[in-house]
Amino acid sequence: MHSPDTLRIRGTLRVFGYPETPAEVVILRRSVPWRGVRAGAFGLGGLVVAPVVALIPPHAAWALAAVVTGLVLGGLKWAERYTLLTLSSRCPRCGAPVEVQGPTRLKGRLMVDCEGCHHGSTLTLPADSFPPGGA
Ligand SMILES: [Zn+2]
Repeated sequence: MHSPDTLRIRGTLRVFGYPETPAEVVILRRSVPWRGVRAGAFGLGGLVVAPVVALIPPHAAWALAAVVTGLVLGGLKWAERYTLLTLSSRCPRCGAPVEVQGPTRLKGRLMVDCEGCHHGSTLTLPADSFPPGGA
């Protein structure tokens, strides 16, 4: 069902003032070629779009915005070492089920909103559960 690069990790959801709850996440490790191709595609996309949007006044501002947007999105893809596929847990505050269906970039500090109490929880994953060279 999952590729060999898929990892199942146990972490916790935390809300200040409430006991943390266990969380199970499934993440996908992204290879350097995968990240490089997507980062390059976004960077080149910005360069391709720049001359087209530069036809609209104020010309230089739109072209610069296209290039910067391509570089920023490319940088985010390059930084995406892990992709979050699923997260399942319970809200530390109200106990309602909390589910996240990805894929989404796994950030160092991931906030998860509870649909029951509309409060944000912070996902914490143990650093030693990631393979060497990652995260
Ligand atoms: Zn809640």
